[in-house]
Amino acid sequence: MRKRYFRMKDPKCRPEEIEWIEMTGREFYCFVHSPEGQNRHFIDMCVSSGYGKFRLAHFLNDHGIRNRKGETWHDATIGAILHNPLYKGILRSGETYSEPFEELQIIKPEFFDMAQALMNERTNEQKEYRTMPLNTTGQSLLSGNVFCGHCGGRLTLTTNGKVYRQADGTCLKKKRIRYVCYNKTRHRVECDGQTGYTMHILDDIIADILHQVFDKMKSATSDMIIGSACQKQMTLLHGDLKRARAENTKANAEYESLKAEVLKAVQGKSALPVDVLNELLDEIRQRVLDTSHKVSELTSELESRNAKTAEMKAEFERIATWSEIFDGSDIATQKMICGYIIKKVTVRRNYQLSVEFNINVEQFLNGIDSMVQSNSCELAVAK
Ligand SMILES: [Zn+2]
Repeated sequence: MRKRYFRMKDPKCRPEEIEWIEMTGREFYCFVHSPEGQNRHFIDMCVSSGYGKFRLAHFLNDHGIRNRKGETWHDATIGAILHNPLYKGILRSGETYSEPFEELQIIKPEFFDMAQALMNERTNEQKEYRTMPLNTTGQSLLSGNVFCGHCGGRLTLTTNGKVYRQADGTCLKKKRIRYVCYNKTRHRVECDGQTGYTMHILDDIIADILHQVFDKMKSATSDMIIGSACQKQMTLLHGDLKRARAENTKANAEYESLKAEVLKAVQGKSALPVDVLNELLDEIRQRVLDTSHKVSELTSELESRNAKTAEMKAEFERIATWSEIFDGSDIATQKMICGYIIKKVTVRRNYQLSVEFNINVEQFLNGIDSMVQSNSCELAVAK
């Protein structure tokens, strides 16, 4: 792997110095000094701050960062970079893809897959099902994932200026951003709800909910979450596998000794008739097959459970990291984090909310709750 460093001379882009990693003719860029002080690849910007190819191209061009030919960035180039599976160590030649090479991996494969899923969700075909923010440039925490609890329509953002008359008679113009029910404002569907909800009030409530989620997750460890229900099942599975292996070994041994017996019978040295022995042999052969089938079945189930556990741990750790950066992050990043954690917010009159979490977060929160419950049970018993 060849590495080349590409430092910007333009003082305007000091914090955005970028490193240029060149691999097999493809380009991957990363920001050496990101606001968090870490290396961030283009793909990080896509996942954590919701930058799409257009915004990333704008960002680079606005900051005077040029591609290696010294030209401005084109969104198609960025798009190709963001979709290149070499990020996770897979070489591509036309329609053919290689197996992943671990030593070529630039980022964790699951991170790449997440970026692809995100970009896919943002494309128009997915419009109907979209719950991730399409455009993160606004100042709001929610977008695309907030709905009216009265008619079920989407809430969209509107800005208007409102004039306030002050005590001394002068007028003060204030900008007001609100989430409004699209159906109600467009008279598309009958809606008996409130037309709009002040952005900062709703956002503050949501930020509060996110903090509650973070607090819960901080008090737990990934082992605790996976521990409770999964570990019990894993222990059972290990036991089953051990038994199946023992049965298989036993069947194999019996099969071998019976074969020896059959040989003796053929030679006229056995007390047992050959046809009886053959029948027994068939029976045991079937047992050998059955038990080895059972062993391979249990082994693959154990493997898939192990993989799932590793995936959950990684997911848990990712969310734990977000809880640390959330408060210090810009609104774009906060919005993405919010989008990962919250699937859908439904608002009713007077800011009555119902929040649907994304499946993984839901799983973790349930895991923590059941853990807390079982702990309190133990305490009660101990008294
Ligand atoms: Zn409505």
